[in-house]
Amino acid sequence: MIDIKKLTIEKAGEMMRKGELTSVDLISACLKNAKEKNKELNIFLEVFSGSAYGGDDALEQAKKADEIIKNGKGTKLTGIPIAIKDNILIMGHKVSSGSKILENYQASYDAFVIKKLKDVGAVLMGRTNMDEFAMGSSTENSAYGPVKNPIDPSRVPGGSSGGSAAAVAAGMALGALGSDTGGSIRQPASFCGLVGMKPTYGAVSRSGLTAMSSSLDQIGPLAKTSEDAKIIFDCIIGKDEMDSTSIDFVGESFSSGPRFSGAPTPARPFRKASANFVIGVPRDFFKEGIDSEVLQNFNKTVEKLKNKGYKIKDVVMPLLKYSLPIYYIIMPAEVSTNLSRLDGVRYGMRKKGEDVFDSFKKSRSVGFGSETRRRIILGAYVLSHGYYDAYYNKAWKVRRAIMKEYEDIFKEVNFIMTPTVPTTAFKFGEKKDPLQMYLSDIFTVSANLAGLPSISVPSGFSSSQLPFGVEFTGPACSDLSLFAIEKDLRNNK
Ligand code: GLN
Repeated sequence: MIDIKKLTIEKAGEMMRKGELTSVDLISACLKNAKEKNKELNIFLEVFSGSAYGGDDALEQAKKADEIIKNGKGTKLTGIPIAIKDNILIMGHKVSSGSKILENYQASYDAFVIKKLKDVGAVLMGRTNMDEFAMGSSTENSAYGPVKNPIDPSRVPGGSSGGSAAAVAAGMALGALGSDTGGSIRQPASFCGLVGMKPTYGAVSRSGLTAMSSSLDQIGPLAKTSEDAKIIFDCIIGKDEMDSTSIDFVGESFSSGPRFSGAPTPARPFRKASANFVIGVPRDFFKEGIDSEVLQNFNKTVEKLKNKGYKIKDVVMPLLKYSLPIYYIIMPAEVSTNLSRLDGVRYGMRKKGEDVFDSFKKSRSVGFGSETRRRIILGAYVLSHGYYDAYYNKAWKVRRAIMKEYEDIFKEVNFIMTPTVPTTAFKFGEKKDPLQMYLSDIFTVSANLAGLPSISVPSGFSSSQLPFGVEFTGPACSDLSLFAIEKDLRNNK
């Protein structure tokens, strides 16, 4: 039997094209793992398995993929099992965003990324559990119960794409799609020992992604290696007429830059080898509030990069410390706007009240969990007349200043490196205070605010065998170079 937990997409693809493995065998092994462990770990809200799924049954998809490969038409993702976060639309399937309010909502079209995966014959394994509407860092905000970390089930897998990360770590899929608004791909990747990547804003279409915060959201890959993550990335990028913020990606440069107000201009493609990169380390930013073991590991990783020929330079980025407070103004503002459509009339479940307003109130009170309600209230507040200028407008000014700070720093260095998270995976219930939970994203949110590509790569294990991650953030459109760094680190143990 194949060990899915060790197998990469690259290797599985090679074996299938050589006729040493079939997609049916591969998918059967993933389904077996799901059957054995999904009840306990609560990773998939739904596995596409069984005759009720018709052509969408994972094994049926695999049979088709095997035909494509047999006819010599297979590509790197043909027949590869991919887990999909429950906020990405797959036509004809439920898409609940981890919320009660959308419990029985069915997608009426395929998200752009799903169309792309279907086009190459990837096998969609099912919907993965997540924090409600992607708000959280542990999956404890899911209306369907938390996901357990396959590495240590007494701990969280990170969030909000915790189900997608756990699906790969538990051998239920070889790769996964997550969404990252403030770290939701990179933080769970770090907690589960994986590569997780947030592309440049606009590199991947958001058409068919349930919106959390539209100027921050990006879909991206989770996988075991950068090669695997890149295989998924290559498949899902592209200009889409259904998303006016999406951009063309040609080789290492975009033909047009990411488009939102104040977005950074695309960088010139890097022509040098990865080992000549200069990496900036904003040490002042992580003097406090970071686990000593995480810091030690970070310093060790810096040394490894130096040995590999990278140049490391201390940099000062005084505005980074404002990223988290700015994020917690802009993100809730967009959340309150995006979720206003969920009123029990147009979408989702309805609780009948005395009149239409009472119905809105009841549907939203019962349908949304407490974190979602907290953010809607916060968002409505910062957007309200009288507070708009003091909070929302001011936050945008600082956001632009943060973008500018990155732009300036990228004249000196190629990438910025920080730990991904200040801690390793924490225990359930450990971060009851929402502000404590929000601190988990201190190193991840700035890349979203600036629209920049950012990757979390595994960097070994703690004394209690929990994975560490380090994060690299680059100029707009330097996505491909980010993958190269992980490869260098991995080959430099
Ligand atoms: N954990 C962050 C939050 O709670 C980020 C979420 C995300 O990236 N979707 O908002």
